[in-house]
Amino acid sequence: MKPAAFDYERPNDLAAALELLSCEEDTRILAGGQSLVPMMNARLARPKRLVDINRLPDLDYIRDEGTHVAIGALARHRDVKSSRLVRDHLPVIPAAYEWVAHAAVRNRGTLCGNLCHADPASEMPALMLLLGAEMVLTQASGTRIVAASDFFLGLYETAAGPGEMLTEVRIPKPARDTGWGFEEVGMRKADFAWATCAATMRLDGGRIAAPAAAVAGVGDRATRLAELEAAIEGQAPSDSLFADVAREVAVSLDPPSSVGVDAQYRRDLVGTLLPRALAAAARRAEEAKQ
Ligand SMILES: Cc1cc2nc3c(=O)[nH]c(=O)nc-3n(C[C@H](O)[C@H](O)[C@H](O)COP(=O)(O)OP(=O)(O)OC[C@H]3O[C@@H](n4cnc5c(N)ncnc54)[C@H](O)[C@@H]3O)c2cc1C
Repeated sequence: MKPAAFDYERPNDLAAALELLSCEEDTRILAGGQSLVPMMNARLARPKRLVDINRLPDLDYIRDEGTHVAIGALARHRDVKSSRLVRDHLPVIPAAYEWVAHAAVRNRGTLCGNLCHADPASEMPALMLLLGAEMVLTQASGTRIVAASDFFLGLYETAAGPGEMLTEVRIPKPARDTGWGFEEVGMRKADFAWATCAATMRLDGGRIAAPAAAVAGVGDRATRLAELEAAIEGQAPSDSLFADVAREVAVSLDPPSSVGVDAQYRRDLVGTLLPRALAAAARRAEEAKQ
């Protein structure tokens, strides 16, 4: 299939790109093209104009900013997955990347493009919620910072406005003794998730501290599980605790049904995967103390 006709711009600097984006006609950013181009080919997206950002300088970086890791708009999945900095401070990210797409897609697709696409079954939005990331949105008139919790609004919908570019994502470095767990089930690795569950926590005197948990693939967007976090904070980690809280999450979900993967199966997956993710986070937090 071929896309509908569109205009194509390839600016060489950020100011020119933002100027093009600020025009009123239906203009979309082209980053890795791994989601946008298939959607255009299927005529699910018909932008009048594409602004290709691949020639913009200084947006392809993964930087240590002390309290956080900063990842620029042109950092490819491949580079984030293999980054030593990311592995050292945010090990749940490369673990999750084992489930994201194929090497060819990861070579071209960008983390920021993935977050702006906001597929409800995508792994990285769930991780940005889990890790408390911030999105740096830039437009011709200035920059604003939006918490991940306010960024993902619904199915393929984010807080980024028409003239805005996600120029950077900032991911806070968790405390060194933070444990993590990541679990997913899909048709195959590299396919979108039927259910994804991720968790982090610390242990303080044998009790759960600063827990975080998020799910994807089971609603119209990735979701952080605030009630579960409140229920386990200060408790001693145990399989029965994790099974109980996961059961409550599972029944509260309203997941989509698709061919061969009905809503009840996705709930059952959460009931199984979430305790595993929580238990893995507790185990790694315990190991980090030794
Ligand atoms: C076969 C295949 C398998 C895949 N499997 C998975 C998977 O398992 N998990 C997963 O998460 N993803 C998967 N993907 C999607 C992949 O991760 C994409 O690379 C990613 O979703 C989009 O990144 P991109 O850079 O290619 O963005 P593009 O396709 O270029 O853009 C996507 C959208 O974001 C907008 N956009 C891009 N960059 C910015 C920016 N900086 N600021 C504002 N808006 C922007 C575009 O205008 C467009 O609307 C798969 C893709 C394919 C083709």
